[in-house]
Amino acid sequence: MPRTIREIVTGSTQYDGAGVKLVRVIGHANVKEFDPFLMLDAFDSNDPADYVKGFPWHPHRGIETVTYLIHGNIEHGDSLGNKGAILDGCCQWMTAGKGILHQEMPQSAQRMLGVQLWLNLPKAEKMTEPQYRDIRAEAVPLVRGDGAEVHVISGTYRGVSGAVQGDYVKALFLDVTLLPHAKWEFATETGTTLFLYIVEGEASFDGTSGVFIPARRAVLFNDGDQLFAQAGESGARFLLFCGKPLKEPIAWGGPIVMNTQEELEQAFRELRNGTFIR
Ligand code: MN
Repeated sequence: MPRTIREIVTGSTQYDGAGVKLVRVIGHANVKEFDPFLMLDAFDSNDPADYVKGFPWHPHRGIETVTYLIHGNIEHGDSLGNKGAILDGCCQWMTAGKGILHQEMPQSAQRMLGVQLWLNLPKAEKMTEPQYRDIRAEAVPLVRGDGAEVHVISGTYRGVSGAVQGDYVKALFLDVTLLPHAKWEFATETGTTLFLYIVEGEASFDGTSGVFIPARRAVLFNDGDQLFAQAGESGARFLLFCGKPLKEPIAWGGPIVMNTQEELEQAFRELRNGTFIR
């Protein structure tokens, strides 16, 4: 059964961190439909003033943050002692688990183009050990064929294993580039939430090339086992995310996402009294 479009989401321009201009594509308002995905922030700017103030030291608990850059440079450091830079084609997959403090500081670049996805952690694993994966561009397999170039960041695509498989929610994350007018078909697991974010160009997903959806839109699909895409005349590039919904209660306070209000209050109490990092 082909996946039909359930919803097209545009999001809104917001400022976060110390004043980073971004588009919050999905967030609190979309959390039920997009489960297990909590948030998607998109960055696309030619003006460093939009982002150089960065995201100074801040905590996370109960989630994974997945930062992927097509272009740009984000310097980072965290309370585990990790330090480095996310560059073109690199992905940082951070499991906050029971708690991490980190900073994310975009550096001046010709263009900063990328996303940060928040992936929820299952209730049983909210307080897992924090972990950080620095995925370099060369570790991300590229699969070519049928007018498509597909970077497999996580999960498996046409038998090719991505750079990571995910230890908790086994999310599929693909960066798909289609040549102009290319038709692309993809077998999807049923019972999963599938959405994509169009970064550039335009694409249709109804199998009949009826309506093209322009860039900077997220498209959420109904359940099914087949996805059809066709690029418009300038081609299309989209980031595709797919994962099984957790269907668990969500208590969300800023950078911390737990299951109950009590767990949330405990986290903020620990932040105040300096016991957050265990
Ligand atoms: Mn962060």
